[in-house]
Amino acid sequence: PLVLGIETSCDETGIGIVRGSTLLSNTIASSMDEHARYGGVVPEVAARAHLEEMVPALNQAVAEAGISLNDIDAIAVTTGPGLSGALMVGVGAAKALAVALDKPIYAVNHLVGHVGADILDPSGTPFEYPTIALLVSGGHTSLLLVRDLVSDVELLGETIDDAAGEAFDKVARILGLPYPGGPQIDRVAAAGDPNAIRFPRGLSRPKDMEKHRYDFSFSGLKTAVARWVEQKQDAGLDVPVADVAAGFREAVADVLITKALAACADHGVPRLLLGGGVVANARVRELAAERAEKAGVALRIPPLSLCTDNGAMIAELGAQLIMAGHAPSTLDFSADSTLPVTDIQVR
Ligand code: ATP
Ligand code: MG
Ligand code: FE
Repeated sequence: PLVLGIETSCDETGIGIVRGSTLLSNTIASSMDEHARYGGVVPEVAARAHLEEMVPALNQAVAEAGISLNDIDAIAVTTGPGLSGALMVGVGAAKALAVALDKPIYAVNHLVGHVGADILDPSGTPFEYPTIALLVSGGHTSLLLVRDLVSDVELLGETIDDAAGEAFDKVARILGLPYPGGPQIDRVAAAGDPNAIRFPRGLSRPKDMEKHRYDFSFSGLKTAVARWVEQKQDAGLDVPVADVAAGFREAVADVLITKALAACADHGVPRLLLGGGVVANARVRELAAERAEKAGVALRIPPLSLCTDNGAMIAELGAQLIMAGHAPSTLDFSADSTLPVTDIQVR
């Protein structure tokens, strides 16, 4: 099927078009720059930007795919989780299109969409299931056991406070680096010694691993960095920014990969899929590759344009639902900012 996907859960207006499992176009307009002076995504600003970008992005995606809007078989749209106001813009646009074109609509889960991105990865055959998926972005840090993309996704664990990307952004701010902080920390850390300062690995002590084996916590780490930097400053000493960045990055990468591979081992699943903006991180990628190989786990990281929020992954999840014979959603669904990952499609 020819499916058009609409994604507006955070700060990316994403429109993607797929035919079956083939990517035809993937247009992304980001309002990231508009959030820079606030140091994080401002929901109201993101929603307004979606409204402005929606029609241009739609036109561009259709042109790049070389199709006409009337050719599409269905529309897929992110219903949640995400920012309410931002989601509503995408949901509204998708419903309007569905009514105007008289096409079926599939209201789908953003996180499961991230997993579906793997199918569009041009670099090789997508994973078979079951697969463990680690999704790390500015809004999410989730570990999933995917037994079947369209019918069986289990949440193994998630962050109990900040998302990993959020921690990167906050620590960057502490170090006086601009937003978004992830790429900045990554760059600065390259010149630092990751073992100079040992920062805490959240929820990794034996006792925590009993109750929170697959959960994450990054707010303690952020506070530890803040306190460390403060103490240096109070003592009138220079802050070794590169070492702090490297130590922090190491702590995040370590805990992410340790827990993801523990999930693979516990469930006897020799496949790990990474998704979300934080997988751009050089150390996360390096550590994942190293340790996955040692553990005999196959690792997949789709190209970054499919890892960060995009419409193509949403279109692909829609296509998979259609190919599996699922009925479309009825038009009375609405955006759900806290949609659980087990709700793959909202009817
Ligand atoms: P959502 O959480 O809904 O998927 P988002 O917009 O927060 O939305 P992405 O756009 O996928 O998610 O990712 C953005 C996040 O990724 C930011 O927090 C950013 O700092 C982080 N990030 C980007 N590049 C890197 C990097 N090289 N290292 C670490 N973090 C990074
Ligand atoms: Mg984003
Ligand atoms: Fe996302």
